[in-house]
Amino acid sequence: MATLTPMLQQYHELKRRYPGTLLFFRLGDFYELFYDDAITGARELEITLTARHKERGAPIPMCGVPHHAAASYIARLVRKGYRVAICEQLEDASKAKKLIRRDVVRVITPGTAIDPQLLDAREPVYLAAVCGAGERFGAAFLDLSTGEFRATETSGPEAWTQIRAEIEQFAPRELLFPASLAPLIRETYGLGADVLPLDATNTVARISPVPELELSLMPLDDWLWQADICAETLRAQFGAHDLAGYGLDAHPEAVRAAGACLRYARETQRDAVAHVSEIEYFETHDYLVLDAVTTRNLELFESTSKAGREATLLGVIDETVTSMGARALRAWLQRPLVARGEIETRLDAVAALHASQIVRDRLRAALREVADLERLTARLNMATAGPRDLLALRRSLEQVPAIRRALEGVEASLIRVLVEAADDLQEIRQLIARAISDDPPANLADGGAIRDGFNEELDRLRAISRDAKQTIAEMEARERARTGIASLRIRYNGVFGYCIEVSKANAARVPRDYERRQTLSNVERFTTPELKEWEAQARDAETRMLELELSIFAEVRAQVAAETRRLQTTARALASLDALAALAETAARRRYVRPILHDSDELEIIQGRHPVIEANSAAPFIPNDLYMNNSTDRLLIITGPNMAGKSTLMRQTALIAILAQIGSFVPAERARLPIFDRIWTRVGASDDLAHGRSTFMVEMTETAAILRGATPRSLVLLDEIGRGTATFDGLSLAWAVAEYLHDSPEHAAKTLFATHYHELTELAERLPGAQNYHVTVAESDGRIIFLYKLARGRASKSYGIEVARLAGLPMSVIERAREVLQRLERYELDVFAEDESPREENEDALRRAARRLRRRAIAAQATLFDAVNQSLLDELRAVDV
Ligand code: ADP
Repeated sequence: MATLTPMLQQYHELKRRYPGTLLFFRLGDFYELFYDDAITGARELEITLTARHKERGAPIPMCGVPHHAAASYIARLVRKGYRVAICEQLEDASKAKKLIRRDVVRVITPGTAIDPQLLDAREPVYLAAVCGAGERFGAAFLDLSTGEFRATETSGPEAWTQIRAEIEQFAPRELLFPASLAPLIRETYGLGADVLPLDATNTVARISPVPELELSLMPLDDWLWQADICAETLRAQFGAHDLAGYGLDAHPEAVRAAGACLRYARETQRDAVAHVSEIEYFETHDYLVLDAVTTRNLELFESTSKAGREATLLGVIDETVTSMGARALRAWLQRPLVARGEIETRLDAVAALHASQIVRDRLRAALREVADLERLTARLNMATAGPRDLLALRRSLEQVPAIRRALEGVEASLIRVLVEAADDLQEIRQLIARAISDDPPANLADGGAIRDGFNEELDRLRAISRDAKQTIAEMEARERARTGIASLRIRYNGVFGYCIEVSKANAARVPRDYERRQTLSNVERFTTPELKEWEAQARDAETRMLELELSIFAEVRAQVAAETRRLQTTARALASLDALAALAETAARRRYVRPILHDSDELEIIQGRHPVIEANSAAPFIPNDLYMNNSTDRLLIITGPNMAGKSTLMRQTALIAILAQIGSFVPAERARLPIFDRIWTRVGASDDLAHGRSTFMVEMTETAAILRGATPRSLVLLDEIGRGTATFDGLSLAWAVAEYLHDSPEHAAKTLFATHYHELTELAERLPGAQNYHVTVAESDGRIIFLYKLARGRASKSYGIEVARLAGLPMSVIERAREVLQRLERYELDVFAEDESPREENEDALRRAARRLRRRAIAAQATLFDAVNQSLLDELRAVDV
């Protein structure tokens, strides 16, 4: 250290205080990175890596970006998961004697970045924290861009699994955890031993627990998670004596997670987080649980094919007109409700807006003029809101009375509550109207943000500046008269300021008090003491004017920020109104109906449709009926050829249930639904190849989770489970899984099971709660037509060949396949007499294959039956096949 220059000592000192970050060290007009940071920065930003102190033998790697362009470089790094510490010069370089004082003023991390260029307006950005051990874990989720803050806690043997599902559901960008939890995190996400803990140079560890979720990991020292410190951090933030009011009193792990989360956010933002004004405690079972795999399979937010947003459920129902509304709707879809009262309240509101197009149109027209009040309020508190933001705030609040009027006659209780909550903050509107000009500059430093007449001193300084032109004109006339040079001019020049310009020919005639400033090819430039003095004054006025504008603006902004709670309440109310109006609009446009939710177990969908396929396909969608209950119809085995519509039917059932539980109307003629606690979906491995998660192991891990976690109130969709392995293992597993879901009293969920294992249809015939269904196909002019109609009973065994025919296999191949199939079936039953053996040379092979199939089938079934029903097996053995 001693051998380093003072500046590099300063650098190392700061670097030590901000481990795990890339340090942007301000040097004049540049931010420089040194050492490993420079190597990382140069690589990620594709900028030139240079070196400092080359001449001293031990060069230090270095790279830099100009400060005026830093924002976009920082954004790129943060998007890649890095943390960036911004170190500024805290004194004027010209005034500092030796070493300039520098300090880190902000740390920008993936989970705390609030710069508009890093945010998607329609999505939240969460910072998450987890802690706990054994059978008790806590988690907290904070969206700094809006102030939304939630915490939860789980206990019992599945505590960690539940917390993990919660993390998947919030999909945070950054995850904080105590350093001592690193082994568990490593194990959970399959990370190598070298990944955690981070050291000072290991600036980033990113994981993708599921394809859509890129998570940046951040271990924090254990002492930061002490219960008393964390509780105090929260109390201080909310100005509360105790945390019982937030439902946190009996949840120590939730308190620890929330406290550590908030503290980290504060540190990165230099304490400017006043808009985090409350926290909401929730239980994981307060919402319909949708894990990441299910969210992805059902394409709620992202399409698994290359199709865009319109091929997702959110894309289809998102008719919101504000970005706050879009985020609210997204949050509803991420966490559908399970309390019937709450669902009905939302449905009532949607129904009311659905009933009147005029009301809906008026409401949405007014909402369209509303800016992102939530994020604006956050920026006010972080002191990054500019004059145009205040103007947008005022214009948004001006819509509130119009929104009230539009909703005047609407009785639905939720609408009434939201209308009450929306506050037009009249005095704030008036303050902004008085203080901020109608067309303020984007950048405060450009001047002109404050309206004339708001501040006397500012008006006076402006008058001086405005008079400058007049003064110059007068001075010019005077000097012309005094010198007798008619072509004399007073001009402004960026380098020298104001000068008197005289042509070369007249230069000799200037008075003695003229001082020569500059000689050009045909003009000479001069100044005079009078001009210099006036210029100094004018410049002084400009500087003072700007300083004054800045301080007036800061004062007005602080006054507006003081109303954060009211602004947030209003913003959230408007966001909910927008989301409700969007659901009503979707219902009207797409002919959805209000679902009937009830407390018993029946599910009955009449003429249900798949909302996304219906919206994206030119061909008419074929609706289907579906009936399920928890007794006779709890396991439906669905067979049929590929592409016949099995997955579609299963998915539409889940989507209809989800829509109902967010309070939306549903695509059907009629729907009577129970309230589900969780929806599980698993798709057989080979369907999943495109996502690089092709292993059979993954499929089985997911299936295991279902068998452990499903309840009679769950809905389980199994699509071609078991396909990822050799036929008989696959069949055996599929068989056993279906049986387990059917038989286990505590895990007997409503299950839809699509399969190409024809043998499973026999299972359905045996089990009292199981039913066979198939999707129908028809034949026309020798071709197969998919009818997409669900019908009772099993599909024909030879549909594979029919599909192959449709696919255009040569007719001779098709005919041969039919023949082979027929023979296989006969051999399987061993109905040929030996002497009847056909003459073909392949016949022996065929016979052997059939026998092998038969032996293996009997063996496989025997193993299954063994476990299931010994007496049935005995009976079977006694049968003379
Ligand atoms: P499977 O799961 O049986 O292989 P899918 O459910 O994936 O078949 O359906 C294949 C395609 O058929 C879908 O992508 C869709 O375009 C179309 N389809 C499915 N069901 C219907 C339906 N009810 N009405 C119209 N088209 C449908």
